[in-house]
Amino acid sequence: MIRPTAAALAAIMLTACAQTAMHAPAAVSPAASAATPSNVAQAFPQAPLPYATDALEPVIDKATMEIHFGRHHKAYHDALNNFAAANPELARLTLQDILAKVSLRPAVVRNNAGGIWNHAFFWQTMAPAGQRGAPSPALLSRINADFGSLENLQKQFNQAGTGRFGSGWAWLIVKDGKLLVSSTPNQDNPLMDVAEVRGTPILGNDVWEHAYYLKYQNRRADYLAAWWQVVNWNEVNKRFAAAL
Ligand code: MN
Repeated sequence: MIRPTAAALAAIMLTACAQTAMHAPAAVSPAASAATPSNVAQAFPQAPLPYATDALEPVIDKATMEIHFGRHHKAYHDALNNFAAANPELARLTLQDILAKVSLRPAVVRNNAGGIWNHAFFWQTMAPAGQRGAPSPALLSRINADFGSLENLQKQFNQAGTGRFGSGWAWLIVKDGKLLVSSTPNQDNPLMDVAEVRGTPILGNDVWEHAYYLKYQNRRADYLAAWWQVVNWNEVNKRFAAAL
């Protein structure tokens, strides 16, 4: 079998690029760049916080947001990126694909891929004043059908949060067209194949002490109660509609 030389291959690729003018050489896709070891550290980059660190004051204080986003969330990215640098096949997968089959992976992937996804989701499902909206008629009708009232949903969700021993998350998920409250330990989430209750999260609250301890200390229940004030219902409505 005749193999083209490297130079010939490069010439063929350049011609292909020139023929598709939209594909400038600089526009390297994340999947393609992940193949080169020097770029693998960028496999799972941390997206910027969608608002200022003081935007959720007074419910979530600026210092907590700075540490939570800048150190805790960043640490999950750093750890998974480091692992992916040594395991390039991981870098070719999406986070969702990794979570769906996370039982096949070591704990470092489960913990850090979970930590990355959970926090990105968490930032998006909160919003500054004036951008929070309210539950849509469709969501509210589903809430009333499955919980009786929004107040009952909040009560059940907060119980899931206070009842989680140690660290973890409380979730509102869509499963078979219905809403359910669940809870996961550590950085697990309902998208994982290891989750006790699987489904599509539309809202979640972080009940790790790092999420509330500076302001609320041991009063997790107070944090859970206050947190509803900063929920981004516009985003929850969108995710609910997409999950159906
Ligand atoms: Mn956290």
